[in-house]
Amino acid sequence: MTTTVPDAAKAVRHQRHDVADKPFITIWEVTRACQLACLHCRADAITRRDPLELSLDEGKALLDQIASFPKPYPLVVLTGGDPFERPDLGELTAYGSSLGLSMALSPSATPNLTTERLGELRDAGGKAVSLSLDGAQAPTHDAFRGFEGTFDRTLDAARLATDAGFRLQINSTVTRSTVLELPRLLTTVLDLGAKLWSVFFLVPTGRGQQLQTLSPDEVEDVLHWLVDVSRFIAIKTTEAPHYRRVVLQRLDAARAGRTPEHGPLHAELTAMTRELLGDREVHERPARPPIDVNSGRGFVFIDHQGWVYPSGFLPHRAGNVRDTPLPEIYRESPIMRALRTPEQFVGKCGVCEFREVCGGSRSHAYAVTGDPLASDPTCSYVPAAALGSAAAQGGVAASAAAQMRAHAH
Ligand code: SF4
Repeated sequence: MTTTVPDAAKAVRHQRHDVADKPFITIWEVTRACQLACLHCRADAITRRDPLELSLDEGKALLDQIASFPKPYPLVVLTGGDPFERPDLGELTAYGSSLGLSMALSPSATPNLTTERLGELRDAGGKAVSLSLDGAQAPTHDAFRGFEGTFDRTLDAARLATDAGFRLQINSTVTRSTVLELPRLLTTVLDLGAKLWSVFFLVPTGRGQQLQTLSPDEVEDVLHWLVDVSRFIAIKTTEAPHYRRVVLQRLDAARAGRTPEHGPLHAELTAMTRELLGDREVHERPARPPIDVNSGRGFVFIDHQGWVYPSGFLPHRAGNVRDTPLPEIYRESPIMRALRTPEQFVGKCGVCEFREVCGGSRSHAYAVTGDPLASDPTCSYVPAAALGSAAAQGGVAASAAAQMRAHAH
């Protein structure tokens, strides 16, 4: 497969505002209640709502806090658990919309997800729905989610969501046992008419500790494959910011007429994709550049009790919106500030020429070492500075990164 790589200055989208001033996106876990029992659940979700979760009034106050950031406001995603477990979800969505916030929903595929409920949320101003699809076939996905029938229910829910007028995003978790289902998942995601495919590289937290993560070389192969298929659908990676490094390296390679080197997993994924797509007509589009968001740097997570974290997978508390406004926590808390200072990162991420456009998964670093500023253990790249030959190894890539920074400011 060949890949069209965009212009260097546009290969990675930069946030257009000061990332220390406001996030690009806020994720609010409105409840931890959920009827599913997913193997990888970050939240260790429970079947009943926690009496300590933010009330309707406290939730509205949180939305007021989000709307106190300067315009354009951060995007808001209501997640869980299953947000549909909250009967006041429509009221929260309507309130956020009335403040001018762009509201998205991330429900679980359960019997709660009905045409009526989706219609109510669409009427309340909900704009996008994201659904999880982790296997390309029912046995894999259902085993992952802990309930039979979830795969079919998810496909039905995706159709209901698009019929209701929501923009659809599909989220897929990659593990060692499901990675070879990615090509078939791609075709399913395309068939569903999703606008964005978010591929999540499992962080071993919550119930996810029981699953096998990929090796750094395997992650690298998957990232290259994602660049390949980004001409079919917009790709977002979660907890793999080195996708942006791979995009830049592919740009360098294309400019120099080099064919990037790949490992056996990339070859296998590529062969499977070719076979599955066959003669099928798939609309190709210019690859959508990934945006340079990272934990605490454009991204903030608020849990069901109001605790604020740099990411849902980085369990390091920065404060609580019950006693401190979210803008103050985001701007001032030591953990958020440290995560926005990549020169403080330890090890190779701290000296990497891509540290400002990538920065590594802070959640993976924390999960494996207990230090959120440590190097990302899922990245196979050896920075030029670590090799002691910056010019030979990273000169072109670093200049691309510098060019992008110059473009952004
Ligand atoms: S070494 Fe760290 S900053 Fe550099 S590309 Fe890898 S994860 Fe990103």
